[in-house]
Amino acid sequence: MTSTTRLRIAMQKSGRLSDDTQNLLKRCGLKINLTDRRLLAHVSNMPIDIMRVRSSDIPGLVMDGVCDLGIVGDNTLEETALERQMMNINADYVRTTSLNFGGCRLSLAMPEEFNYRGIKSLDGLRFATTYPQLLQRYARENGITVEFCMLKGSVEVAPRVGLADGICDLVSTGATLEANGLKEVEVIFKSKASLIQTATPLCPEKQKTLDTLLPRIQGVMKAKESKYIMLHAPKDKIAEVSSLMPGKETPTILPLAGRDDLVAVHVVATETFFWETMESLKALGCNSILVMPIEKTL
Ligand code: ATP
Repeated sequence: MTSTTRLRIAMQKSGRLSDDTQNLLKRCGLKINLTDRRLLAHVSNMPIDIMRVRSSDIPGLVMDGVCDLGIVGDNTLEETALERQMMNINADYVRTTSLNFGGCRLSLAMPEEFNYRGIKSLDGLRFATTYPQLLQRYARENGITVEFCMLKGSVEVAPRVGLADGICDLVSTGATLEANGLKEVEVIFKSKASLIQTATPLCPEKQKTLDTLLPRIQGVMKAKESKYIMLHAPKDKIAEVSSLMPGKETPTILPLAGRDDLVAVHVVATETFFWETMESLKALGCNSILVMPIEKTL
């Protein structure tokens, strides 16, 4: 168990989640020096320490209470939880919030020439994977039996060298599969990064720090998706213009100096603002349409 009152957060040391995690923490106002080689970095302006480890170690560190919080992919989290349940080791944790990065899917992929006729055509085959638990669970749920061989990296090469019939691996665009002569046949798990915490309640000091940090994390995520929109609109078209604005915020309508026919409309759009919407606004007679990023929101 952690002995101090400083909140200890585990994050990936280097890899696909490390930049996004680091940016998120920095945008939450945490002052961290992650350039040095120290694995436990001290946040200078909040009672927080950042522990930099391998992604696959994060769920266990949180489940064992060594770290209070962790930022990790749902794929790694679920795989570890299943593995620990199988070995009768505590696998409890709380998903504090889902994050808006690290999106990928765990898929089954076969050589291009494989004649795929549905999930049953995979019965009895052998898959190379880093995620044997998720693979076996999917096979069980679909009434098939599969074998696996464990590979921690370069999984895509396995069918070509005769190590396996297919692979079960993470995909984001599918370009790596294609480059290796493989086709995706089933998506077995959809993943994003999550902020998780220990299942045991935090001490009041740590809880207080988390109560400050969590709204900031949510604010950063909301700001990333939100845009501030400003435009000039014909006064008699305010209702149509408002109905075109994405999101649920009510627009602010302001007078324009020296103009009786036009007003300024300001709104925070909480959904994607498409070019098509801008074109429709222009067709209504709007001009000076500005779409700006939002840095923070609370
Ligand atoms: P470790 O830190 O233990 O070496 P890892 O080998 O899983 O972990 P990365 O390849 O950096 O390290 O992946 C980290 C996480 O990034 C994955 O577990 C997954 O949640 C997410 N991710 C997002 N897109 C992809 C992708 N296309 N391929 C692999 N992982 C992805």
